[in-house]
Amino acid sequence: MRVLISGGGIAGPALAQWLGRHGIGATIVERAAAPRPGGQTVDIRGAARCVVERMGLLAAIRARCVDERGVALVDSSGRRLAELGADLFGGEGIVAELEILRGDLAAVLREHVGPEVEHRFGDRLVALAQDERGVDVRFASGRTERFDVVVGADGVRSAVRRLAFGPERDFVRHLGAYTSYFTVPDPGDLDHWFLMHNAPGGRVAGLRPARPGTAMASLTFTSPPRPVSREVLAERMAGVGWRVPAMLAALRDADDCYLDAISQVRVERWARGRVVLLGDAGYCGSPLAGQGTSLALVGAYVLAGELAGNPGDPAAAFAAYQRELGHYVAAGIRLPPGGVRAFAPNSAAMIAVRAASMRMMTRPPLRALMSRQFGKAERIALKDYAVARS
Ligand SMILES: Cc1cc2nc3c(=O)[nH]c(=O)nc-3n(C[C@H](O)[C@H](O)[C@H](O)COP(=O)(O)OP(=O)(O)OC[C@H]3O[C@@H](n4cnc5c(N)ncnc54)[C@H](O)[C@@H]3O)c2cc1C
Repeated sequence: MRVLISGGGIAGPALAQWLGRHGIGATIVERAAAPRPGGQTVDIRGAARCVVERMGLLAAIRARCVDERGVALVDSSGRRLAELGADLFGGEGIVAELEILRGDLAAVLREHVGPEVEHRFGDRLVALAQDERGVDVRFASGRTERFDVVVGADGVRSAVRRLAFGPERDFVRHLGAYTSYFTVPDPGDLDHWFLMHNAPGGRVAGLRPARPGTAMASLTFTSPPRPVSREVLAERMAGVGWRVPAMLAALRDADDCYLDAISQVRVERWARGRVVLLGDAGYCGSPLAGQGTSLALVGAYVLAGELAGNPGDPAAAFAAYQRELGHYVAAGIRLPPGGVRAFAPNSAAMIAVRAASMRMMTRPPLRALMSRQFGKAERIALKDYAVARS
């Protein structure tokens, strides 16, 4: 079987690795010219932790984990208004026990793919046409090839989804905000805490521990759909105070700036013929739902297992993939109460409400609600797929 995977982020390499263990080779085509750095820490929770354990990667991931001890809301002078330690909710709260920089997780996954996986950077699909026996693909480089199966693991703005399923507007919902992540120098006083500051006008700034000597900044602003750039971001964040002026100074030269809308992706059926979607391309709750990486890792495990278990019958494999994963994904992409408005309130009064509700999260009745929100990471019974090699 020849499998083409579009997208070399998290879902793509995870799938390639599992396919390799089942004895199936794959080609990963990534639009970027080199592995993309960047992204804040992402967490690996619930069933996803079990998947990386089955991959034998838990130790490699732990070795690169960021020591983050909790999240605190601060006012413009840095005073803590509310805090949640990483040990709350059994280590599965807003800050989870396994927090790793997205770029580091992508590197661990890439480093462990077998020799049967071909990585092509700097190319992308521009056309595909399928019949009952395969998919003909044309790449931007001019190359044409035929594959048995094509997997769209190319993120929220998936090209595979656009080519095989339809226009982005049918599947991607703008949630009313834009967010950015980029590296800044370590301010030296984070003490392993993730600090977040809300300012009126739906603006949020965050600063999280990262690699030694650095921190990860995030800047978010509410807005209807519009063109965005670093300049627009700087304009919207002007006057926020706290540590934002230093962040904006670092933004100008940041070489790993990720800037995009906060969006939710919903696709009712993840397969069309021999083309299937995986990770953010097919299901994404946005960073607010906070489970994107876990969904991608578990999705890769199930998709590879079902492709191997249904040789020569991708339709049966894709049906089983959706059946196994459907409920877990539905729960995983659900937004937390209040959505963007609760995360980035407009007024000083609502910012005070946000701090108060964060203080109450550890007490009943909010504690039960939050436990349910975090508990959704467990909502799948992982099948044991027999692998050819471990
Ligand atoms: C640079 C970056 C930083 C991120 N930072 C965070 C973060 O801090 N917090 C968070 O919660 N989530 C972040 N995300 C999203 C997060 O990685 C995903 O939600 C999750 O891990 C699922 O991964 P994925 O592989 O499905 O999608 P992604 O990680 O988005 O990977 C998709 C990959 O496909 C590639 N691609 C896109 N279009 C094409 C194309 N036409 N052809 C070929 N390749 C294509 C992209 O370059 C990317 O490498 C980030 C994503 C990126 C790309």
